[in-house]
Amino acid sequence: MINITQVVKVIDEKCIGCKQCDQVCPTEAIKTVDRLARVDKDLCTGCNKCIEACMDHGAIKREFLDAPRRVVTDSGTVDRSQLEKICAAALLDPEEAICLCTATTAGEVAAAILKGGRTPEALSVMTGVRGVCAIWCTGPVIRLLEAASIKVERSSRDWRVYPENAGMAIGIWNVPPEVADKYPEYRIRENQERLKHGRIEVPMFANIERTPS
Ligand code: SF4
Ligand code: SF4
Repeated sequence: MINITQVVKVIDEKCIGCKQCDQVCPTEAIKTVDRLARVDKDLCTGCNKCIEACMDHGAIKREFLDAPRRVVTDSGTVDRSQLEKICAAALLDPEEAICLCTATTAGEVAAAILKGGRTPEALSVMTGVRGVCAIWCTGPVIRLLEAASIKVERSSRDWRVYPENAGMAIGIWNVPPEVADKYPEYRIRENQERLKHGRIEVPMFANIERTPS
């Protein structure tokens, strides 16, 4: 379970309708229609990838919610043996956090698949996975979908789905101590310690708050 505390809004007069934002959104929350981007705030996880994509035009701003929006998939309401079967086929422990940003577990994603999630975007909306950087957890999400016999076929130009770890030489496990200490808000040292025991349990981003499910 995660709580979303921030979403985004579009400044209409600055939007030129280029659709760059559509192409990076992990939840399909932002869509450009008639040359104007629109945000479905109920789908937005506040990852801010669209803000980066729109840097040249500055048409997207952060908007903090009055009250956090809870994102949860109750894994207690699905068949546990089916959930474990999907995780085992994907070579993942159900309790394993597969998302470094939100600490969403493999079991939560498997439960969302059993509840009808059929795409990485739908699983992001249902569980919060891929809700921030959308890089490291995309591989495990695709593995879980394929373990449930759901094929994810995407163009190599689909910026929302990155090949697992492609081109990545650095991970949380090899961030140098001086860099970890420079950015305490990402809780890197704390998570490096937890990784030694096979778990990341603390979300890395200050605007994501994880609460016990
Ligand atoms: S990237 Fe910016 S300018 Fe382009 S459609 Fe999206 S909001 Fe509008
Ligand atoms: S989920 Fe991320 S990319 Fe999509 S609209 Fe929200 S902040 Fe932008």
